[in-house]
Amino acid sequence: MAPRHERSEHGPNGPYGPSGQGGAAIELRAVRRSYGRGDETVHALRGIDLVLGHGTFTAVMGPSGSGKSTFLQCAAGLDKPTSGQVFLGGEEITGLSENRLTVLRRSRVGFVFQSFNLLPSLSVVKNVLLPLRLAGERPDRGRALELLAQVGLGEHASRRPGQLSGGQQQRVAIARALITRPDVVFADEPTGALDTRTAHEVLGLLRSAVDTMGATVVMVTHDPVAASFADRAVFLADGALAGELPHPDPQSVADRMVTLATRRLGAAA
Ligand code: ADP
Ligand code: MG
Repeated sequence: MAPRHERSEHGPNGPYGPSGQGGAAIELRAVRRSYGRGDETVHALRGIDLVLGHGTFTAVMGPSGSGKSTFLQCAAGLDKPTSGQVFLGGEEITGLSENRLTVLRRSRVGFVFQSFNLLPSLSVVKNVLLPLRLAGERPDRGRALELLAQVGLGEHASRRPGQLSGGQQQRVAIARALITRPDVVFADEPTGALDTRTAHEVLGLLRSAVDTMGATVVMVTHDPVAASFADRAVFLADGALAGELPHPDPQSVADRMVTLATRRLGAAA
């Protein structure tokens, strides 16, 4: 098993070390995921090969039903591929027991959901500390407060989530996702419930988590503007990779999405 923190703890880009060094944050090899059997079989992923480096921000895009959520769940160890391999921080996670996977998810993966998923009865700072508690690590309150300050919520640590706006709640969720210094932060439509301006603030925050803290972010979205905050957009169609765009801009992403949708309509006709 590869040691987890072989990379430098305090490189020029923060606790994760320099961008792009220390091997892949996440790697998928020939990942397939099928549901059902026989004639009813749905091939949600049909053999995905993908390598994402440390300190990168990737947008995963594709039409509805193209396999984005299945991809995210297999990559994050929430779901098991039918075949193929997934490596997280250099360690193969396919084949791990459910208990090992749970431990790994708690300490090495961060999640940001469309619906924030904060615990309403806990204060903001306790929400941020929750992953450390679940992972059985020391609840580092100082670090939680520091992260809250970095996401612009230094004054709100003792509030309840219900007292914050949607955008502020998503900032708390981002701080929570970063607290364990995970190998990868997975975000599934993180701006789906936010207005445009607030969405931009949240995307800018994910961007700066990558640029200033050296975090690695994988974001599923169908919004071309959201994708333009990423370093790279990868496209899924019918469970397979269908190209990618480095340094995506909203217009070229939108054009690519139209092409994929048109191709699918053509195939169905
Ligand atoms: P996306 O997130 O891009 O909309 P999904 O990953 O949710 O796509 O789904 C990909 C395909 O797999 C779809 O055809 C969907 O209907 C199917 N699928 C997803 N989850 C299940 C499941 N639990 N059982 C059966 N089919 C599923
Ligand atoms: Mg989905």
